[in-house]
Amino acid sequence: MSGFRTTGLVKRFARGVETVTALDGVDLAVAPGEFVALVGPSGSGKSTLLAVLCGWETPDEGALTLDGDLAGRRPDALGWAELALVPQALGLVADLSLADNVLLPARLRGVDEHDRAGELLAGFGLAHLADRYPHQASLGEQQRVAVARALLLRPAVLLADEPTAHQDRGHADRLLDAVRQRADDGAAVLLATHDELAWARADRVLSMRDGRLTEGAPS
Ligand code: ADP
Ligand code: MG
Repeated sequence: MSGFRTTGLVKRFARGVETVTALDGVDLAVAPGEFVALVGPSGSGKSTLLAVLCGWETPDEGALTLDGDLAGRRPDALGWAELALVPQALGLVADLSLADNVLLPARLRGVDEHDRAGELLAGFGLAHLADRYPHQASLGEQQRVAVARALLLRPAVLLADEPTAHQDRGHADRLLDAVRQRADDGAAVLLATHDELAWARADRVLSMRDGRLTEGAPS
C-alpha cells in the first residue's frame, strides 16, 4: 500500500519568448484506497501534473513524495506493478498485438499474467480483438487496451489521463468500475477526467485551473 503527496509543485514551459506556468504551486495528497478525480479545462495543467507524478517531467519547484511501501522511491524508477499510467496519447506499441500490449508489464517483470490479461480483455469487450494490432483497432478500443495494461499488475499507484475520453457510456462504466475496484483494493488513484461518470465514483473531486488546484467540482 502506498500513497503520494506533492508540495508546492511548479512547472514552467518556455514557449517562444513567453513562459507558461503549467503548475503553479500544487499541493495534493492521495491516500491508499482513495480515488481522486481531477477536473479542469483544456490547458489547465492536468497532463503536466500526471507527467510530473510519473517522473516524465521534473518540477521546477516543489516536491513529490511517495509513502508506505514506496517510501523513498523515485517515480521514474518504479515498475508497472508500483506505478501505472494511462497516458492521454495511450502509448501502445505499434508492432505488438493488443493482447501483447496488455501483457507488456508482465513481460518486463518476468511474470506470467495471461489469465489476468484474458480477464481484462474480456471485461473491456476486447477478447475478439486480442490478436489485432493497434492500427487495426478504434481509438476507443486502443484506449481500453491502455487501461487494461495499466491494471494488469495491480499497481499501487494508478494515474490515468482522461481514460474514458473515447468511450461510450457502457464502456466508460466498465473502465471506471475497474478503476474504482483498484482503489477499493488499496491503490492510490488519480484520474484526470471530464467524465461525470468518473466524478460519481470518485472519493473526491479536485478542480484545476491555470495550474492551481481547489477542492470540489468546478462550479
Ligand atoms: P491539460 O492536460 O489540462 O489540458 P496540459 O498540462 O497539457 O493541460 O497543459 C498545461 C499548459 O502547459 C498549457 O498551456 C500547455 O500548452 C502547456 N504545455 C504543456 N506541455 C508543454 C510543453 N511540453 N511545452 C510547452 N508548453 C507545454
Ligand atoms: Mg491533458
